[in-house]
Amino acid sequence: MTQDFVLQRQQLIKSLTKAGIRDQAVLRAMASTAREQFVDQEQRDLAYADCALPILMGQTISQPLIVATMTQALQLSGSERVLEIGTGSGYQTAVLARLAAYVYSIERYQQLSYLAALHLAEAQLDNVSLYVGDGSLGWPDEAPYDRIIVTAAAPEVPPSLVAQLTMDSVLVIPVGSQRRQELLVIRRASLETRIHSLGSCIFVPLVGVEGW
Ligand code: SAH
Repeated sequence: MTQDFVLQRQQLIKSLTKAGIRDQAVLRAMASTAREQFVDQEQRDLAYADCALPILMGQTISQPLIVATMTQALQLSGSERVLEIGTGSGYQTAVLARLAAYVYSIERYQQLSYLAALHLAEAQLDNVSLYVGDGSLGWPDEAPYDRIIVTAAAPEVPPSLVAQLTMDSVLVIPVGSQRRQELLVIRRASLETRIHSLGSCIFVPLVGVEGW
């Protein structure tokens, strides 16, 4: 069974390459992260299908191609402090932890955060801090961050998150209605801010003061 997962993981990496993921470090990080550890027991056979899967509390673990696309957009070099909003299963957190210096991740559901902590420990990733609360307000105590990734859909870019970015930073966030969003990449370099879209996407809602 374990062997089978290794093979399936290699096939997933091939399909991500075909789909246009070019950042070798991102592909390596995903090749080293066992997605089957982060999905519910009854979903394990589907762990390497390139689709979102249900997790507890009516939430989802993101599709691998979305994880790869968002992570690639963050342009991580290894030295960054990253803030993630929406820990969920912890899978995206694990991929980030392999590519950044330190990851802070916030989840609104205690139960998801607890399970994510167990699975991240199992994966022997210790450059991560988890927090339970409203991530639409960020994590001011640990700010500023070089990168922020939001894995839930926001009605607009939360001002609190922008305020917690460094002057040389990237924010990746799905923004739009609850039914459909644009995956925005907001790059701030010195005094210039550029925004572009990676296309449309569908995420569960960001529920909070600066969310829905
Ligand atoms: N990256 C996760 C995606 C989980 S889905 C994964 O791949 O597993 C998005 C998560 O955002 C859900 O777990 C949801 O509970 C959480 N969420 C929604 N609004 C939030 C908020 N305001 N603060 C923190 N987490 C939130």
